[in-house]
Amino acid sequence: MPPKKPQKDPARLEALSQCEARLSSAFEHSITGICFANLDGLVTEANEAFLKIVGYGREDLCSGKLGWREMTAPEYRHLDDHAIERMKVTGTCGPFAKECTRKDGSRVPVLFSAALVSGSETELVCFSLDLTEYKHAEEKVNYFAYHDALTNLPNQELFKDRLKHALVVAGRTEQMLAVVLVDLDRFAIINDTLGYVTADQVLREVAKRIVSCVRESDTVARFGGDDFALLLPEINHPEDAARVARHIQECLSAPFNFDEQELFLTSSIGISFNPVDAKDAVSLLKSAGTALNRAKELDGNNYQFYTAGRTTKALRQLVLENNLRPGLERDEFIIHYQPQVNIQSFQLVAMEALVRWEHPALGLLHPSEFIGLAEDSGLIVSIGEWVLRTACLQSKAWQDSGFDPLRVAVNLSARQFQQPGLVESVTQILKDTGLNPTFLELELTEGSIMKDPNQAIRKLYELKAMGIHISVDDFGTGYSSLNYLKRFPIDTLKVDQSFVKDINTDPDNEAIVSAIITLAHALKLNVIAEGVETHQQLESLRALKCDEAQGLLFSRPLAVAEFTDLLAERLSLGIPKDYTTTQLPSLLNVLQQQFS
Ligand code: C2E
Ligand code: MG
Ligand code: MG
Repeated sequence: MPPKKPQKDPARLEALSQCEARLSSAFEHSITGICFANLDGLVTEANEAFLKIVGYGREDLCSGKLGWREMTAPEYRHLDDHAIERMKVTGTCGPFAKECTRKDGSRVPVLFSAALVSGSETELVCFSLDLTEYKHAEEKVNYFAYHDALTNLPNQELFKDRLKHALVVAGRTEQMLAVVLVDLDRFAIINDTLGYVTADQVLREVAKRIVSCVRESDTVARFGGDDFALLLPEINHPEDAARVARHIQECLSAPFNFDEQELFLTSSIGISFNPVDAKDAVSLLKSAGTALNRAKELDGNNYQFYTAGRTTKALRQLVLENNLRPGLERDEFIIHYQPQVNIQSFQLVAMEALVRWEHPALGLLHPSEFIGLAEDSGLIVSIGEWVLRTACLQSKAWQDSGFDPLRVAVNLSARQFQQPGLVESVTQILKDTGLNPTFLELELTEGSIMKDPNQAIRKLYELKAMGIHISVDDFGTGYSSLNYLKRFPIDTLKVDQSFVKDINTDPDNEAIVSAIITLAHALKLNVIAEGVETHQQLESLRALKCDEAQGLLFSRPLAVAEFTDLLAERLSLGIPKDYTTTQLPSLLNVLQQQFS
């Protein structure tokens, strides 16, 4: 007898079909993307939601080539690898977030999980949830945690964050930074009379105008109400911040047109600087706030620096002080050379090395602007060494190019002269550069010699023993202790320019210059007059038998290329013609006359 077919239980069949119908509806209508796939990644079945999320059509599915692993964006594929390993052990994986690449190449963030189909070791059911909306919402929340909803500008939180970061950078680069607070004058009246809607429009327009006044690297923030803040990193000079403040006030003073009304605004601004006023974010904001209050008290429509009472000049000094060291590191210093002329023979006999600072923002600066600062900070020692080394190198280079050797005079500041290692440093520099010491002259002031005469005398003898020339700069303006002239191994006195200036108009000055020259010659010293600007001054100096002179009459201090032209006789000294032709027959002329 054939085996009896199992009797179909109609109730069980009914339940099964109901279950199948339910599952298939859930599959078809689920907003979660569901697909069946094998471990190799091939998708065998997928619902509409899945196809929509990953941007493929049913025809792609039917082609039998849709692979769920290929859909994962490359940098997330390692997550799929982990998921598969995990699934082999536990039968499930996820949920985890990843990004899929759609058929059109766009990206979609998804939350993904999968499980092995019960009873199977190779078939998977995968679930994907589109996270696009969620991500947008998250971005929005994050954005508004750091931005002002009305103007879209950074808020106080983000401003402080950027300020802290900028302070770290400024500390490293020794750059200055400014915090600028802007407050609209009498804005409460606009709020009260025009209502919040118009007031909001005004604030949006104000934000736009302020942003248009600054660089892209600056930050403009709204702290709420009518308070705006600016962060200006990389300020070279307080004037840069003042310029921004003036520009903002000008932009805000143009009429605002709303609801056919013309509105005029003025603003008050407070400015503080790092590191001058404060070194941390909170104190900088506080200082700028104090400055802003002062601007308001002064009836508004003005800007104030926190540094009360500090003149722009004092601020400029502070900036320079901050820029000195980086300036030296960035090779911003150069030397100009001023000719020194024998005023009997009119020969070029020497040159004085005069340092200049090519400041990137302030232009060419003269030593009076920074030598004092460098002295105070001790940086004069490094600057002085640089000048000495560079001047020696340049002199040697001129000699090596075949020009007649000239002595180069280098100024030593008091602090530099008092350095314990000065003699060693000079010796080393001469050795390194190969300049013969007889072509080096060191200029000292009476003050720096007299600070510690015993030490000075020892040092001067050591330098002199090497063959170096010693001169006393600005002679007549310092201690004028005649005794040291005898004791110290000095070669030259440089008559200060203040005496030369009035030599033709002030008989006292003429008497002083005459006395200096007589004294110098009695002690067998050379005399050079500084600051000779006119023909008459030269005449008087020649009559008094002064040996040499230096000044604008002959030449201003020259850049290296110009001095090279002078040496190569492509440029000439400003010697008055009558000297060169009548009183100064050249050796060649004399010889020609004798042999003709
Ligand atoms: P100093 O050594 O007495 O230098 C002479 C100054 O007079 C220079 O000014 C020069 O440019 C200026 N000068 C030249 N001819 C004339 C003229 O006909 N009329 C007038 N009114 N001035 C003239 P500079 O270059 O500004 O230097 C000023 C001072 O700075 C120097 O005075 C010197 O004391 C100091 N200095 C310059 N370079 C260095 C340096 O490398 N190291 C140190 N420690 N000090 C330096
Ligand atoms: Mg000098
Ligand atoms: Mg001088």
